[in-house]
Amino acid sequence: MRDTAVFESVQRELNRQRNNIELIASENFVSEEILQLAGSVLTNKYAEGYPGKRYYGGCQFVDEVETLAIDRVCQLFNCKYANVQPHSGAQANTAVYFALLQPGDKVLGMSLADGGHLTHGSPVNFSGKTYEFHEYGVKRDTETIDYDAYKKLVEEIKPKLVVAGASAYSRVIDFKFMADVAHENGALFMVDIAHIAGLVAAGEHPSPFPYADVVTTTTHKTLRGPRGGVIMTNSEELIKKINSAVFPGMQGGPLMHIIAAKAACFYEALQPEFKEYAKQVKANAKALEASLKEEGFRIVTGGTDNHLMLVDVKASCGISGKKAQRLLDEVNITANKNAIPFDTEKPFKASGIRVGTPAMTTKGFKEDDFREVGKIIAYRLKNEETDEVKQACLARVKALTDKVTMYKDINYLEK
Ligand code: PLP
Repeated sequence: MRDTAVFESVQRELNRQRNNIELIASENFVSEEILQLAGSVLTNKYAEGYPGKRYYGGCQFVDEVETLAIDRVCQLFNCKYANVQPHSGAQANTAVYFALLQPGDKVLGMSLADGGHLTHGSPVNFSGKTYEFHEYGVKRDTETIDYDAYKKLVEEIKPKLVVAGASAYSRVIDFKFMADVAHENGALFMVDIAHIAGLVAAGEHPSPFPYADVVTTTTHKTLRGPRGGVIMTNSEELIKKINSAVFPGMQGGPLMHIIAAKAACFYEALQPEFKEYAKQVKANAKALEASLKEEGFRIVTGGTDNHLMLVDVKASCGISGKKAQRLLDEVNITANKNAIPFDTEKPFKASGIRVGTPAMTTKGFKEDDFREVGKIIAYRLKNEETDEVKQACLARVKALTDKVTMYKDINYLEK
């Protein structure tokens, strides 16, 4: 008997993905090949261990797949060793901490309130509960990373590990400077490139290698792969520790279907078309930035160098991020509320929204489309909440999304 309820929900989600303007900066649309591999028979296979050293029989073909994934990701990011088994970005970070730290060790990470990630030491996360995390952040005037304060903190705290990388930061991060300071003070330097991985792979953001000791990433954001995590390093000593932290330290069987999809993601990212894609992601972000600024919006840090930006909707139109998210949702524009640096609102309400271009660039949007997206956002957020405004926005969104077809042969309602 077919589970029609779940298939119907998945079909509705497919339609939502087709019809909406997706601006969540951490989302993307994978290729049909990646979808096929993520839903492949490899989901049936247990493969605890690593290629050539498994605890189960019948692993010869999944070994081929995992070896391809490792070789390709090392080529893509120009490093020597990789572990492609973490189920997610959070688990990649967890495994690195397990490999490099003891409970109670001192770590310095970017403050969540200023754009860092939960797993970079937030008190509500296992990272903040297990280790003595300290935080660096951004300057009040420029809202960019305060590198002088960072240096002072490293010198004072003498952390065992420094974590760089962010979830909501729109400017280039100076990995070399941060690594030099960390190393001069005896700390290891880890960079979490989850958000910018696709830009780094395409040469559109400076790489953390060769400066970082360890680099973690997710595969599903700008890198445009399946949901998952990866850990990379140039150190033979560290990869041994990392491999045993992932398995048997933290996980059992790897998700081999996802590792196959990761291998295909790295293959796609190695193609010349991916470089064009990453360039377009940035050009589109610039177009959206310009359009929003023309409409009078304040962009945190004054703009963007990457795929995303934070829009201060409270300063720009007197509403909270929460309300802006709802108003946009109602006209088929998907974004997320986000705290801005020095926010006076609680995180669940927030003063900002975070918008990004990776997903709609995959759908083929160019600069003109994003200029129109900026104008629709302004029209929706700056006007009274009337049905007339809502219908006008819905029609303008439809005009943009009708131009693109995606996943056109997929139908979850057919047997
Ligand atoms: N690291 C950064 C910088 C992120 O932005 C995220 C997700 O948003 C993660 C890690 C966690 O990834 P996941 O959601 O796959 O656990």
